[in-house]
Amino acid sequence: MGLSLEGKTCLVTGGSRGIGRAIAIKLAELGADVAITYARSAEAANEVKAEIEAKGRKAKAIQADAVDFGEAEKVINEIVTDWDKIDVLVNNAGIAKDNLILRMSEEQWDDVITTNLKSIFNYSKASARPMMKNRGGSIINISSVVGISGNAGQSNYSASKAGIIGFTKSYAKELASRNIRANVIAPGYITTDMTGSLDEKVLEGIKEATPLGRAGNPDEIANAVAFLASDMSSYITGETIRVDGGMAM
Ligand code: NDP
Repeated sequence: MGLSLEGKTCLVTGGSRGIGRAIAIKLAELGADVAITYARSAEAANEVKAEIEAKGRKAKAIQADAVDFGEAEKVINEIVTDWDKIDVLVNNAGIAKDNLILRMSEEQWDDVITTNLKSIFNYSKASARPMMKNRGGSIINISSVVGISGNAGQSNYSASKAGIIGFTKSYAKELASRNIRANVIAPGYITTDMTGSLDEKVLEGIKEATPLGRAGNPDEIANAVAFLASDMSSYITGETIRVDGGMAM
């Protein structure tokens, strides 16, 4: 059995930029039809859609705020109506609003928790019935190494990412009997817009703390997601795979 996603229908939340974009394109390269959602970047999202279509796959770029449960239901309904089923859900949309706890506002806390954690509930719940009807599915939730190790200045982000790991294990236990698998990818430091504003000194510190001695790139996350999306990982559920150059070992 090779790593093929031929015939599979996938959704990647936050697929307009960064890691989500790389995941969407990788899944299409391996043969899947792929829908992405985005919050604001319509132009970037449409470029990803065009890139997927250029590979001979079906694509959708749908504007949908990940924190809104009703919008999540609409997105899943559109995919199931137009493409008959959903096989793979990648919960990738996320934000960071870093601050030390003494300075963190309630708004910074709420924004990060709802965008990063409630969104996982929204899309996982909305896709559960269609996946049950389809007699299986794979959900891949994008957490972070700081959800495992914690990080000063990221209590909101770390809490949301640790919450994703607990959510995923519970979901995996609830739906394993329906052949629905749920797993987590925990990236380390990956070069994207999210990390683009970190200053040189912080970046050097991160590299020093990474045994492989460099930042990762979005494609390296996409490769791990593709494995979990495929039938090559058919006996893996409730697992968290770090893709972090060894940072959190
Ligand atoms: P980017 O900031 O580059 O991209 C974020 C993506 O999420 C964009 O597509 C954005 O859409 C979308 N998004 C943000 N908020 C919402 C929302 N409310 N509704 C719908 N879509 C939304 O981030 P990365 O690619 O770096 O990160 C992707 C995921 O990986 C996140 O969950 C992040 O926490 C995680 N991660 C990243 C790491 C890194 O080092 N980069 C490390 C560990 C984890 P739009 O373009 O419209 O704004």
